[in-house]
Amino acid sequence: MKFGGTSVGSPERMKALIPLITDPEKKIVVLSAMSGTTNALVEITDLLYADNANEASLKIEILREKYHKVVDELYDSEEFRTTGHELINSHFDYINNFTLRVFTKLQEKAIVAQGELISTALFHHLLKERNLKSALLPALNFMRIDKDGEPDYFYIEENINRELRKHPADTLKITQGFICRNVFGETDNLKRGGSDYSASIIGAALKVREIQIWTDISGFHNNDPRFVEKTSVIRELSFDEAAELAYFGAKILHPSSVNPAREKNIAVRLKNTMDPEDEGTLITSNSVLLDYKAVAAKDGITVFRIKSARMLMAYGFLRKVFEIFEAYKTPIDMVTTSEVGVSLTIDNPQYLDEIAKDLRELGSVEVEKDQTIVCIVGDFRTEKTGSAPEIFTALNTIPLKMISYGGSQNSLSLLIDTKNKTQALRLLSKHIFNN
Ligand code: ASP
Ligand code: MG
Repeated sequence: MKFGGTSVGSPERMKALIPLITDPEKKIVVLSAMSGTTNALVEITDLLYADNANEASLKIEILREKYHKVVDELYDSEEFRTTGHELINSHFDYINNFTLRVFTKLQEKAIVAQGELISTALFHHLLKERNLKSALLPALNFMRIDKDGEPDYFYIEENINRELRKHPADTLKITQGFICRNVFGETDNLKRGGSDYSASIIGAALKVREIQIWTDISGFHNNDPRFVEKTSVIRELSFDEAAELAYFGAKILHPSSVNPAREKNIAVRLKNTMDPEDEGTLITSNSVLLDYKAVAAKDGITVFRIKSARMLMAYGFLRKVFEIFEAYKTPIDMVTTSEVGVSLTIDNPQYLDEIAKDLRELGSVEVEKDQTIVCIVGDFRTEKTGSAPEIFTALNTIPLKMISYGGSQNSLSLLIDTKNKTQALRLLSKHIFNN
């Protein structure tokens, strides 16, 4: 059971978790940092990189004070408050030590890891104060990524089982999401939002019955509630559908977290801590076919349009194009081709200029930023007649800049200007979900 930053975001919310995890069923509870903490820690590391130790110290002290208030409200007894304050001071003294040294990438990860280390320690003490038996499993003792940044399952399985053997089987286990060690044994992390991924990796390593991701919304919605009214919860999704939605904008689940569950065929359930009775969304290997299930949008997309006479009837051209993106470790999301050109999109603009420069060796290149991919998840089996006419009718006032159909049975993606996104989502809501 993984609880996200808002689910542990205040002393009240932490206390509200207790009834959700104290039933007799065996479980491991994975916690994120309290909401806002990882952002604050990243800001502190940015200041340290910029050699601005004074400003960094100031921010560290503000965050320290915030946590002292949390401690005051979290515990009932003086004894636990004292322990809590000491705990907070030890973590923040550790962070503050970095203001005195030259700052490196390694130390950034060590600082950012403090959020999860603090939230789990605070929660563990809360259970202790209430005489609820629990064990704190240090994620840094078992969670590990390999040289490519992928989970090292062999290591993880062996080490989490070793950690578990230290405690009686029926004791409630608490551990940190997000943080891990890298191939050199240094503190690292699974990238922002990675606690979901931690939960899924742990679930897969232990072959659990179910992986539950608890947030503050009742599962995947069929459209983006930030832009569209009257969205509804999707009750069942396949792993593929969930992966598409998670990647394309539905912020609720870290996209990589579907993979470990899919590989071991373990159901993932998305639940709402604010409404625990709600059944949420269940993700399994079964797909319930529906013409249109959900829509999600991803901003920050850049499109490259490459045109070349050399492409006409030639082979190997696309390979050369793709190799350039590979060289810069930049994943491509959408591709469309014609005989004289190819358009493709990326979401990470870090090497945009380098990529564009290399592509110009192959032909003319246009780059356009501020694009959005709208992904519609549904039944797009190519043998079906009437290929999604409702979508194109709904969007007939919006310029569609790329269309990707047939890439998978369960999704269709469109590229539009970001400025048209809200309108596109609303039109789809109105026409395909009849809102
Ligand atoms: N605390 C980390 C973050 O904010 C990981 C997570 O919450 O999933 O990105
Ligand atoms: Mg999250």
